[in-house]
Amino acid sequence: MQYGFAIDQRTCIGCHACTVACKTEHNVPVGQFRTWVKYVDSGQFPETSRDFGVMRCNHCTDAPCVQICPTEALFKREDGIVDFDNSACIGCKACMQACPYDAIYVDADTNTAAKCNFCAHRVDDGLEPACVVVCPTESIWVGDLDDPDSAISQFIATEETLVRSPEQGTGPNVHYAGASPAVLDPVAAPVDDTYIWAQPDTLRLAVAPTLRGDGTDPDAPRTTLNTAHPAVWGWKVTTYLWTKGVAAGAMLLPALAWLLGLDTGATGAYVAPVLAMAGLLATAVLLIADLKRPERFFFLLTKAHWTSWLVKGGVVLAAGAALAGVWFLFAVVTGDAPPGWLLMPAAVAAVLVAGYTAFLFGQAEGRDLWQSPLLFPHLIVQALMVGGGALLPVAVALDADTGWVRLLAGALLVGAVGHLGLAVREVTGRHSSANASAAARLIGEGPHRGTYRLGLALSAVAALTAALALVVGGGALGLIVALVAGGTAQVALLAWEHVFVRAAQEVPLS
Ligand code: SF4
Repeated sequence: MQYGFAIDQRTCIGCHACTVACKTEHNVPVGQFRTWVKYVDSGQFPETSRDFGVMRCNHCTDAPCVQICPTEALFKREDGIVDFDNSACIGCKACMQACPYDAIYVDADTNTAAKCNFCAHRVDDGLEPACVVVCPTESIWVGDLDDPDSAISQFIATEETLVRSPEQGTGPNVHYAGASPAVLDPVAAPVDDTYIWAQPDTLRLAVAPTLRGDGTDPDAPRTTLNTAHPAVWGWKVTTYLWTKGVAAGAMLLPALAWLLGLDTGATGAYVAPVLAMAGLLATAVLLIADLKRPERFFFLLTKAHWTSWLVKGGVVLAAGAALAGVWFLFAVVTGDAPPGWLLMPAAVAAVLVAGYTAFLFGQAEGRDLWQSPLLFPHLIVQALMVGGGALLPVAVALDADTGWVRLLAGALLVGAVGHLGLAVREVTGRHSSANASAAARLIGEGPHRGTYRLGLALSAVAALTAALALVVGGGALGLIVALVAGGTAQVALLAWEHVFVRAAQEVPLS
């Protein structure tokens, strides 16, 4: 069984009765919506037209919000309805990144995720959803899409219907009859400078010029009424990518040195595990602080949903911290360099600490830029860059073995060059979807171009000074060069993570 909606936009009069009935039924806070009516205008006065689109959760057959939810707060019922349990929600906002339809918001009263749940409580009592009952033109059809004899199945079989963003492969179960493609395609109709009854949110205004391109067609469709969908992952997620990159690099490079038979001295025995533990602790603090319900963070253990890379990532971070702790204790107790039996598992944990985010971001189906197959290798070279950049000045200051110093400088050089190349490739290369291309344009040509170029320039400085460090080696000059190389590498990565995290979230999904 699969409940679904069909919305006949040919008879919809854009009255917002469905919006209001839904808000009343579910006590939705002011400024937030489980369903809403989007307007798109085309042409010029007096030759204008207006199209409506009723937006809501698609109760997807393969719902990515359910997959990514770390606590099973979002779940699919036997009847196909995608429902939620706000008593289990930790407010991580991952579902908002996974939904390709802007269907989910964080309820301002409960600080937990919410969305259209098909009025499941009414369905359980044999009633239709509130929006269906209130619609004055009977434009909202509802029923079992798996039953070929249901009225909705008959409607879809006989009318030409479309779904939103079918390329996402989620199996959306809201079908639109007579909807303008410009209403259903979230990037086809950027907002003009104003809505008809309201000011667009600042995010939509900021990205519209880039999405519009040259903007020479005055008849082009433009959105004249919609709801706001802010970017919900900000500086804490940006910084978390950096802190865990430093931690991963700090664990990986001593293992590499062990394989090469190099003496890492006190840097490898004490500084590297302490840096790794500090980086992982900061990572955990940032992740918990970013939750809308941080006091529920332990639900990641007690209500763990193992398909979610948020849960698997938590295990990886904990394993990395535990190994770094054993490493440090071993050095304190024995006074010896860490042995291979400790460094090799630490190296595996380091690769996972750096790279698991590629799988987490891969589950964020709404952010196509993050779906890049280059993300995993990119995260590894980033770890080499910032891990090498953090350890290099310490090793030079401690007058460490030349081979170890050269390995750190080489790792920083390779990491910075690799990061530079992959960052340029992510922005200027071919993209798998219009959504990813739009995000890349926001970075390369749009509001993020200044930060993006600053990050690239700093990466180049880090690479050049790392090459110089290979030549200079130790001493006072070597320390200055190492500090410049290591410092610019950290800032360069933060600049990149800022634009990469932000731009992907700024492409409209509705
Ligand atoms: Fe609804 Fe979005 Fe989840 Fe699909 S991914 S079921 S549209 S919330």
